[in-house]
Formats: sequence, structure tokens, C-alpha cells
Amino acid sequence: MTGFRATVLTLYPEMFPGPLGIALSGKALAKGLWSLDVADIRDAAEDRHRSVDDTPAGGGPGMVMRADIVARALDRAAAPDDPRPRLLMSPRGRPLRQDFVRDLAAGPGAVIVCGRFEGVDERVIEGRGLTEVSVGDYVLSGGEPAALVLLDAVVRLLPGVMGKTESGTEESFEAGLLEYPHYTRPQVWEEQTIPEVLTSGDHGRIARWRREAAERLTAERRPDLWTDYQARRRADETNRPRRSRSRD
Ligand code: SAH
Repeated sequence: MTGFRATVLTLYPEMFPGPLGIALSGKALAKGLWSLDVADIRDAAEDRHRSVDDTPAGGGPGMVMRADIVARALDRAAAPDDPRPRLLMSPRGRPLRQDFVRDLAAGPGAVIVCGRFEGVDERVIEGRGLTEVSVGDYVLSGGEPAALVLLDAVVRLLPGVMGKTESGTEESFEAGLLEYPHYTRPQVWEEQTIPEVLTSGDHGRIARWRREAAERLTAERRPDLWTDYQARRRADETNRPRRSRSRD
């Protein structure tokens, strides 16, 4: 079997598999449900000091990863006809969201470049067709934690990785909503009880309660998601044939 193939290019190969070698993703890795190759970008350096970066053109602080070094590392790691998307972790990138994660998980894998310093020379982004991906509006010191986040999110969706199929579909973002609150035994904890409906055994009421709770949380915490969700629901209603019409 082939499975999802991840190749990570980094200056710190010892950071991988790191947390991905443990728990759900680690078991899946051991089972061969996905594979991970790690390439040290420094191996693509050719001078005596094995330097990979240089000072920014135009001046300013920090260092920039050289286009020729990153390109050489990429060309060694993936042939030109490799069908996998080439990603560059970058705070300027496309925000990593669940729909993108799902698309990646449905594909053959990913080649992921982790930046360091001030980032990489712009020319290699264009020259090697890299898609920039961001894990959020904050700045990390390197792309490695971002790559770990992306791969963790992808791997849990791969076939055979999660036990129950529904534990992938009911979660936050899958329906465009944040998830409803969870409870488990004990029934009473520090004088707080589990909401009565959840122990009623009435599956219809439980589903309604969960949907309402998910909607309330989303409206309160994520007005951006809530607006999208309502727009989608309005569109669904317009497209659906009206019940009352079909009767007359
Ligand atoms: N000078 C850059 C930040 C460089 S941070 C800027 O202002 O945009 C160094 C590296 O960390 C980046 O090249 C990138 O690979 C990674 N990185 C930092 N923040 C990230 C984020 N939010 N998402 C993905 N990668 C990030």
C-alpha cells in the first residue's frame, strides 16, 4: 500500500518525527498508514562552512535562506513529476483550515519546507511553485512546529487512523461550527451536574441540544464562522425544493 507520503525539509531534522512519532500519529506511522522522510537542508550546502543563509538584499536585520540551497534540497527530495503539493510554512501563507487539511489528506502526500531566520528568498517560492501555508496570525521562530501541526491534522484524517468514522465528522469545523460541550462521569462534580438532557436517552432531544449549543458557542466565540455558517444555511434553504409547494 502507498499511503500518505510526507517529506519535510528542515535545518533541524532531529525535530521529526518528534510528537508525530507518539500516540495516534505514531501508531499510524508504525503501521505504515503514512510515511515521513526528513531531509536536512544543510546537506544541500556546498561550501566549507555549509552555509544556507545570507544577509538580506537591501539591508535590515537577520538572515535569509538562499534560493539555490533550498531549490537544491527540494530537487533532491522530490522529482519534477512528483504529484505531491509543495508547501512552505509561512506566516504570510494561506491560513490552514480544516477544508484544506481534508484536501491534503485525500491526496498523495506533501513536500513541506520549513523556514528559519527571516524566511526564504522569494525567488525559490515562485521558481519551485511553493504554496505558502500559515498556522495562524503569530510568528514562530521556525516552520518546524507549523509543519508538525499541519501533519498532525492531516494524519488523523487518513483512512484507518481514527477508530470510529464519526469521530472525524462531528468535530469542530467539520460542519462549519465549533463543537458542542462534552461531559462524562462522575454525574456530579463539585456540585455541578451533567445537563439532564444528555442522560435522558432521548436521541432526538440530545441531537437538538448539541446543535443549539454548537450554534450558541460559534455565534459567541467566532462571529466569522457564524456569518459563513448562516450564509451557507440560507443558500441550502433556497436550493432545497419547498415542502409546501410539492403538496399543492
Ligand atoms: N520574517 C518573517 C517571519 C519569519 S519566522 C515574517 O515577518 O513574515 C521564520 C520561519 O518560521 C518562517 O520562514 C516560517 O517558515 C516559520 N513560521 C513563522 N510563523 C509561522 C506561521 N504563523 N505559520 C507557518 N510558519 C511560520
